[in-house]
Amino acid sequence: MTAAVALVFLCHLPDARVTAQGTSSQPTIAVLATGGTIAGAAATNVQAGYTSGQVGVEQLIAAVPEAKKLANLRGEQISNIGSQDMNDEVWLKLANRVNALVTMPEVSGVVITHGTDTIEETAYFLNLVVKSKKPVVMTAAMRPATALSADGPLNFFNAVAVAANKDAAGRGVLVVLNDWIHGAASLTKTSTTAVQTFLSPQSGLIGTVAYGDIEFFRAPIGKHTADSEFSLSGVTALPRVDIIMAHENMDGALIDAAVTAGAKGIVIAGVGNGNLTQSAVNALAAQAKKGIVCVRASRVVTGRVGRNVELDDDKLGFVASLDKNPQKARVLLRLALLQPRNVKDVQRIFDEY
Ligand code: ASP
Repeated sequence: MTAAVALVFLCHLPDARVTAQGTSSQPTIAVLATGGTIAGAAATNVQAGYTSGQVGVEQLIAAVPEAKKLANLRGEQISNIGSQDMNDEVWLKLANRVNALVTMPEVSGVVITHGTDTIEETAYFLNLVVKSKKPVVMTAAMRPATALSADGPLNFFNAVAVAANKDAAGRGVLVVLNDWIHGAASLTKTSTTAVQTFLSPQSGLIGTVAYGDIEFFRAPIGKHTADSEFSLSGVTALPRVDIIMAHENMDGALIDAAVTAGAKGIVIAGVGNGNLTQSAVNALAAQAKKGIVCVRASRVVTGRVGRNVELDDDKLGFVASLDKNPQKARVLLRLALLQPRNVKDVQRIFDEY
């Protein structure tokens, strides 16, 4: 055997430390797949059209054999949907499963694959209801698994690396995308198609991860996970909260319609600092008086919505969303409304989380 042939042969020997299940010295990470583009497939590798949620969890794990060198991976399929179809049934199933897994001593952390459209909502929901300091890391992809330069495999690898890292513990639910580690409360999707779509525009990143090499910068904003007062114990349904976007010439019709449809809370994606027309303010204040909890957020991507800036929240009975965008405000309000609360208590919750 020539030296060159021997070298090629050696390079193809299986790594003695790694088996299909990993090794006993490695941490065990549960991988929960929910669907999304990371599990999406298209007919060719260079086309915009594709279908989310085509690839199962075992295939997804098998596509990134390098991840098994970081941890023993145990796959479970929670759903296989585009995250535009994310719903309360899947949320409750997912959250309850994560809460069960994190109590198992042999499970070191959880990785959840998801679509990018609503990952920020699911991440924030889990951030508020998972009762553990163990790492829970979400990831996704902008390009389907079949695409040229698919981003899913490296995102998955990096997510496993973060979940297997002891320093990830106690930082709440993390979202790993395109080398960046975001906190669940801060990230938002900013581009419909770009791979670099997620930003934490207001408060910045929790850290970075490059080919599994992790650097943490800081703790996430807001109370979370083990310190959260919210619990899903005994919860089978979440209260309805609608988001209504403000705009030029807005009237109160959609505000009233939301209440007629059963909303217990309304989040306004206001203009500027959570503003809306006088006629919409009047409609919202009338609903607030009847006990509907009304939160002013903003359709603007950065900046806080403060209390009593151009509108007198104290007098009108509104809650200011502070640093929560409308979709995060909706998640928080739904959990807050699992029990009856006055406006002051809901504002306290928006301050703390
Ligand atoms: N529509 C897809 C989803 O959210 C988009 C993606 O995953 O990038 O499931």
